[in-house]
Amino acid sequence: MSDASSNGGPPAPTVDPNALKEIAAGVFVICDHRVPLVPNIGIILGSKAALVIDTGMGPANGKKVLDAARRIAGQRPLVLTLTHFHPEHGFGAQAFKGAGKIHYNRSQRDELQAKGEGYLHMFKTFGPSVAAALEGTELVHPDEVYEGASTSIDLGGRTVELRTWGLAHTAGDQVVWLPQERILFTGDLAEERIFPIFPWFPPNDADIDAARWVQILTELASWKPAIVVPGHGDIGGIEILAAVRDYMIDLRKRVTAERKSGKDADVIIASLGPKIRAEHPDWSAPEWIDFAIRYYSTLS
Ligand SMILES: [Zn+2]
Repeated sequence: MSDASSNGGPPAPTVDPNALKEIAAGVFVICDHRVPLVPNIGIILGSKAALVIDTGMGPANGKKVLDAARRIAGQRPLVLTLTHFHPEHGFGAQAFKGAGKIHYNRSQRDELQAKGEGYLHMFKTFGPSVAAALEGTELVHPDEVYEGASTSIDLGGRTVELRTWGLAHTAGDQVVWLPQERILFTGDLAEERIFPIFPWFPPNDADIDAARWVQILTELASWKPAIVVPGHGDIGGIEILAAVRDYMIDLRKRVTAERKSGKDADVIIASLGPKIRAEHPDWSAPEWIDFAIRYYSTLS
């Protein structure tokens, strides 16, 4: 436990640029060290430009990511994209404003505009270290928005694809796919040995479609990625996608069965929650089990 967490709340959500790993030629990840509220961040080089995927939370983390990208990319123009609008993924984007081109899908942009301020306030209540990281955060607009399900960016000798399906973990989740190298950045559609994040906060935010989320994971697996970079957790392969998908399918079945026997969400959480926790002893962030059970309880 860090000092910050003993003061209440999670440890400082600090991006560590020294955690940089080259997972394929010209494809870098600033690994999250499994620190809560720090994402895995991608930096992908082409001959003409470089793409940055996610920024970490707050202006200081965003600046660290920008500096790391500059060190790697030299004079190449930078493009920033986000896997989704959640604060720990995108609330450092202001560092890139004017320093690179910010490029989102339309749903993600709309969701950021609708919910960004609310999430900023909510996250500041998570504890002093999170509030400190978010101090001075400004929500910035993208320079470019794409419509529809996908776009591709030619970085020079390397094309990356940005793909979205609409509502799943959020309203505008996006994956980044390198078809030649078969590398997939999933954002929070997949995390590794972490209970899937169900941001089920009605009435403020009830934008989850877990059935589509499962379909997306099935489709992503069909692409046969060689390397999967999850939103949080260790880099791995296709098994990361399967683990999340299996968890969600199983949990939905079990919650539906409990609902059929007349139990409400609180009763199901009390009985099923500890079992689910015990079945995944090496997974972190068990607080998300209850949110998932509450979400699935509303469907049945
Ligand atoms: Zn998220």
